[in-house]
Amino acid sequence: MAKLTLRRYDDSILRKKASPIEAITPEIERLAADMIETMIHANGVGLAGPQIGQLLRIFIIRDEIMEAGGEYVLGPPEVIINPTLSNPSEEKVSMVEGCLSLPGLYVEITRPKKIHMRYMNLKGEWIEEFLDDFRARVTMHENDHLNGVLSIDRIDKRERKKVEPNLLAIKKKYHP
Ligand code: ZN
Repeated sequence: MAKLTLRRYDDSILRKKASPIEAITPEIERLAADMIETMIHANGVGLAGPQIGQLLRIFIIRDEIMEAGGEYVLGPPEVIINPTLSNPSEEKVSMVEGCLSLPGLYVEITRPKKIHMRYMNLKGEWIEEFLDDFRARVTMHENDHLNGVLSIDRIDKRERKKVEPNLLAIKKKYHP
C-alpha cells in the first residue's frame, strides 16, 4: 500500500465532477487500499477520489460505532463506489464538519438527518441502505466531493466571509 498525496484547497481538481467506475479491476482495489491508508494516516473519517487526484466516483468512510461500554469509536473503513443518494429526510441537523482538503477549517453545516444510498462495494455487489446521523453526514460530505462541491459552498455568505482568512492561509500554504 502507498500513501497518496492529498489535494488541498484550491486545487482545481476539487471542483471537477468525478466519473463512474466501470469495473472493479486490480487497479481500483489498489486505489481503494491506498485511499484507506491515506485517510487513516491523516486521521480522517472520509476521503473521496478527487481529494487524491482521481476523478472517480469512489470514497472511503469510517462510521462511529458504539462499544459495549457506551463509548463511541471509529469503525472499520468502508469503500463506497458509484453511490446514488436519494430520499433525504425533511428533518435537518447541524453538525461541524472538517475536511482533509481544508486542513484546520471547521464549519457548521445543516444537512438532512437521514438519506438513502445505493452503492457498489469492492466485491462489485450493489447495496441499498438508509443512513442516519454521523454515517449520513460523512456520506453526504464525501458524495459532495464527487460533484466538485466543498463544505464551504454550503455555508451562508456571512459565514463564508468569516472563514475567508483561513481559506487564504490554506491556499498560501499549499499553493504558494
Ligand atoms: Zn472533504
